Amino acid sequence: MKSIKALINLILIVVVLNLSGCSSFFFRVMGRIVSGSAVKVEPARYKITNPIIPGVGLSVLWIGHSSFLIQMYDKVLITDPVFSQSVGMVAKRLIEPGLDASSITKLDFVIISHLHFDHLNYSSLNALPKSAAVFLPEGGAEYLPELGFKQTNELLPWHSIEQGGVRITAVPAKHFGGRYGFDAGIRNNSFVGYVIEYKGTTIYFAGDTGYDPELFKEIGKRFSIELALLPIGPVEPRSFMSRVHTDAKEALKIFADLGAQIMIPMHYRTFIQGTDSSNSYAEELLRQQIEQQHLEDRVIILDVGEQRLFP
Ligand SMILES: [Zn+2]
Ligand SMILES: [Zn+2]
Repeated sequence: MKSIKALINLILIVVVLNLSGCSSFFFRVMGRIVSGSAVKVEPARYKITNPIIPGVGLSVLWIGHSSFLIQMYDKVLITDPVFSQSVGMVAKRLIEPGLDASSITKLDFVIISHLHFDHLNYSSLNALPKSAAVFLPEGGAEYLPELGFKQTNELLPWHSIEQGGVRITAVPAKHFGGRYGFDAGIRNNSFVGYVIEYKGTTIYFAGDTGYDPELFKEIGKRFSIELALLPIGPVEPRSFMSRVHTDAKEALKIFADLGAQIMIPMHYRTFIQGTDSSNSYAEELLRQQIEQQHLEDRVIILDVGEQRLFP
């Protein structure tokens, strides 16, 4: 059954990539996925069992890819939770998640940026406490099975919902919608980033996005962002990826456009992506840029499972 589903997914991806003229790119990516499937999963260096800390103002724990457990005072949220061993049943996890879902004993919000397999993952959602309210982009609720969460909210870009003093605002991203490829056109609003504000602290979670010279300046004008979680991969092939995914250089342009104080990179190291020459390529480019731009104090590269507390 699993292999039939995987085959259907594969066929859908082939159809979509052929339609968009990306078939040679597809076969290069598949080559990496097939060769990578034999690689042993790296253990996470950190795997704390009590991630929720009484009295903390802000803490950020990188679970891997775009999944972060974030605590702002008494509120706990998770972004694009993925704990599974593969996504879309073809892209295998390369490093263990930096946290077990069972260690999350309190959860207020689940923030989902878009519907792609590496961001909306049903088994991972099902492993979380159902006390949380789920936030999705427009059209996202239809893709969410009935898992028993307290509440499901869809947000259009620039729209906010306030709950328990936390204001969550969806903001535009430059990516593509849908989940299965063929539905990208009908779900062309189903991808966003989010700004989360609570007790004077403002965090920006970009989701998946390419660079845009106006968009992030506009977000920066509307919000005073302390911490920006920004994607740095996949990098290659740049001609194709740059439309929908920032590399390190572009992520740092977003960081500057936002006027944010601190950046934490995401969307790398966890799954095989694009045709990057190695799994550390995106991070290597970021480290070069940090050095060139003297950003050592402002860009924090977390290890998988590492938790950073902010004063
Ligand atoms: Zn995506
Ligand atoms: Zn993604």
